[in-house]
Formats: sequence, structure tokens, C-alpha cells
Amino acid sequence: MADTTVISKIAEHDKPQQSDLDKCVHCGLCLNACPTYRELGVEMDSPRGRIYQMVQIASGAPITDSYREHIDLCLACRGCESACPSGVQYGRLVEAARAEIETHTERPLGTRFVRSLVFKHLLQSPAMMTLAGSMIYLYQASGLQRLTRSSGLLKLFGKLGRLEQLAPPAEVPFFFNKIGRTYPAEGPKQRRVALMAGCLANVSFARLNEATVRVLQKNGIEVVIPDGQGCCGALHAHAGIRDEARKLARRNIDAVLGGGFDAVVTNAAGCGSTLKEYDELLEHDPAYAEKAQQFKKLMRDVTEVLGEAPLVAGMRNLPWRVTYQDSCHLAHGQKVRKQPRSLLKQVPGLEFREMPLSDMCCGSAGIYNVLHTEMSLNILERKMSAVNPMKVDVIATANPGCMLQLRAGARLFGSGQRVMHVVEVLDEAYKK
Ligand code: SF4
Ligand code: SF4
Repeated sequence: MADTTVISKIAEHDKPQQSDLDKCVHCGLCLNACPTYRELGVEMDSPRGRIYQMVQIASGAPITDSYREHIDLCLACRGCESACPSGVQYGRLVEAARAEIETHTERPLGTRFVRSLVFKHLLQSPAMMTLAGSMIYLYQASGLQRLTRSSGLLKLFGKLGRLEQLAPPAEVPFFFNKIGRTYPAEGPKQRRVALMAGCLANVSFARLNEATVRVLQKNGIEVVIPDGQGCCGALHAHAGIRDEARKLARRNIDAVLGGGFDAVVTNAAGCGSTLKEYDELLEHDPAYAEKAQQFKKLMRDVTEVLGEAPLVAGMRNLPWRVTYQDSCHLAHGQKVRKQPRSLLKQVPGLEFREMPLSDMCCGSAGIYNVLHTEMSLNILERKMSAVNPMKVDVIATANPGCMLQLRAGARLFGSGQRVMHVVEVLDEAYKK
């Protein structure tokens, strides 16, 4: 039954804008780039179909459960944006559609509780993340995880059991204790950058953050991890919780601007595309619109910063066959495709193999794999069926969320390929 309970009013500028909707000429050239359409073959689960439904809502149709489901099932991967010849900014549209849904419908009590716990508390609280991370660490380090996985017990838990396969690791010591520190450049200092350490990444990708610092240092870059930073708000913006995303954006801008940095860097492509779009998020905030523009000008993915000059010499031979999975928010959201490949190709001995459909989403998409586990795993299985014949040792990518998903893919549908971030490959090469 349609649920159209209005629980609050949405600002006009947070709804899908008519000028954006009008750009779609319904040509359908985006359909094949859409993972949910490829999976289901249903027009309403294609970019064109979703835009058509947004147009109906903008014309006064009610927000129904069916509309919400089709919009929810979108990965927000923006593959359709790259395929679209008319320049439709689909990422902007789907975020606005979700913001409209969020304020016009009331979700079931349990869903609201989980969403509030995750978005308003867990992701914003280092203390809660440390607690959750410590519990995961105990589960993993005690051998309980190995036992549950090998015993077949997980099958009895249905969706919960499948979710366990996608759970992030906990890497002690967590990265939170590095926030506020400065790491000097090795050799003559070329630049000074601020590193955004992420939120969950402090717990689940602490070693990746450390590797990122080391590789930047090695390449003559001083790295500051500014105090006062926190979650970037990407997951909030993708889920349509825009006011919460704005709060987090203001906090990060305050933490970084005025620090005299040549760039602000992230190793998480999903965070990067939101960080680069703070100007859109805050364009109607008179106190922050200008600051958000300045922040956007400084924001870079780590592969962009490292790709500005040839890598410093001193890498050892890595006789690995490596392929690269484009992170959607790097390739489609930020249009960064060349740099990660070029960095990998500079590693001595490394054999680079191009993956077919490398910019097709792996099914990770923030917390999509948690909310739509079945669809996510189907997309992942399809991805791994393209990777397996390539006989590579390593799947490299540029986003922690994709790493988790691909690791599950290598375990469930692959041949145990190693999954690494591009900077982890470089870090490995720089090790003596
Ligand atoms: S989003 Fe672009 S490619 Fe897709 S139907 Fe509309 S105009 Fe065509
Ligand atoms: S963002 Fe991705 S899943 Fe959503 S409509 Fe576009 S291509 Fe399909």
C-alpha cells in the first residue's frame, strides 16, 4: 500500500530540479551501463525509467512504495552518467529523489531506528566506532569467524549469514590515534597536504591509511591528518539525509580551510566524489557557500596527487599480474580513470591486464550491499565471472567499499585473488 505520510517539508532546492530532469531525452543509451537494468531487464529499474518516475512525481503524482523501491534499488553508481550523451547529472537527481522520499514518507519503526543509529550516531562517533570495531576484532581474532564460516552455520541465518560475508574487518590499532599528527616528506618537500582519514576507515582500513601516508611521504609530500575532521557525509547524502550531510561538510571545511594546504586528499573514491561536491551541498548556505567552493578546489583523490609527477624511484620488482576495477565514484563521479592505471604501470615487473567492463559497478555502493544483499551479490558474481578468466594475482581498486566487496567476490565466486588499493600496491613496491 502506498505510504505518503508527510513527516517534514523539503526545501525546493533539495528536490530533483526540473532543469536536470528536462535534460533526459529518453534515448535509452544509458540502459546497458546500468547494473540493475542488466540484472532485471525492467525499465523502471533503469536510469531512463527512474528519471521518468521522478518526472511523474515532479508533476504531482504521489510518492508510492513502488517508486521508493525503484529508487532504493539504484546503486547510485553513476554509470549512466558516463553513458549519457545529453549530460544528465543522474547522481544529483537520485540524491535529490532520495531526499524527497526521506522527508515525505515514514519508514517502519525498525528501519528508522537502524538508520538513525547508523547515520546520526555510529558514523559520527569515534567512540561508537571504536566499540563496534573492538567487538568485530574479538569475533575475528578469537577464531569465531573462521569457525562460523567453515561450519556452514551461516547458511542457517539467511540474510544475516550472507551479510557476514561482507562484514568489514577490524584492524588494530585503529587509525583514530593518528588524527592530529603531521608526517614529514621524505627528501625535498614538494607539497603539503591534508589527509581525510574517513570514518569507518579508521577502524576497517587503518593499514590502508598508513600505507597512503607512507607513499605520499616517499614522494616528497608532507601529510597532515587535521584534527576536527570526521565522516564526509557521503553515505548520508546518498541516502537522502542531506541536512546531516551538510552538518558534516561544514565540520570538515572548518577542520581544513586556513591550514595552508596545497591539496586535501582522500584514498576513498566514494568519499571523494561527495567531498568534491560540497559546493553543491552548501550552495544555499550563505555562511559556507564560498568556503565550500574553496574546499572543492583543494580536494583530490590520492591517485590524482600521486599522478601529477612520475613516481619517485626506489620501487622493487613486483612480478604480479594485476587488473584494475574502476571505483564508480572515481570513474563516473570524478572522471578519474587514467591515473590509477598509470601508477600501477610504473611498478617494475608488474604486468597490467585491462579488465572487460572495468567501470561496471561491483555491487558495493556504500551500504547497498547491506540493504540489497541479494542484488549486490548477483552483480558481484557477474563481475567475478569477468575477472576469473584473466588469471590475475591482484585486483586493484581505489575505494575501501569496493575492496570489501571484491574480497567477498574473490572468496565466494573467485579463485582467492588478492584485492588491494592502488596505494597499497605502491607501498608494497617501496618496501625493502
Ligand atoms: S539519461 Fe541520458 S542516456 Fe539515459 S535516457 Fe536520458 S538522455 Fe538518454
Ligand atoms: S546510478 Fe547506476 S544503478 Fe542507478 S540508474 Fe544509474 S547506472 Fe543504474
